[in-house]
Amino acid sequence: VSEFEDVGSLIERFAAARDWQQFHTPKNLAMALAGEVGELVAELQWVPDPGPEPWLEDGLRARLGDEVADVLIYVIRFSQVCGIDVLSEVRAKLERNEARYPVERSKGSSAKYTDLPPP
Ligand SMILES: [Mg+2]
Repeated sequence: VSEFEDVGSLIERFAAARDWQQFHTPKNLAMALAGEVGELVAELQWVPDPGPEPWLEDGLRARLGDEVADVLIYVIRFSQVCGIDVLSEVRAKLERNEARYPVERSKGSSAKYTDLPPP
């Protein structure tokens, strides 16, 4: 059992022990996920445009970690409820992105794949 599956089981058991599956519809979980993404973003709102280092001081890293955990928990729970295999979806997506963004055409560029220079 991978660590990822392990965490997935913890999340599932947490919900089951509280009889919360009834609330965990795809719609509710998607909304909860969006809310947690909002909390993550709010931690960075008005933070001076970050340089590489000092902006993570003052507990900000800890608060970001807390919100990242919330986001990932809801991603995992949403995927469980929808029957989505998160890791295989991520692998498949990375493969598609490899094809969309060939290194020789995308290196150092922030352009969307549809706007990359032709080969
Ligand atoms: Mg939160």
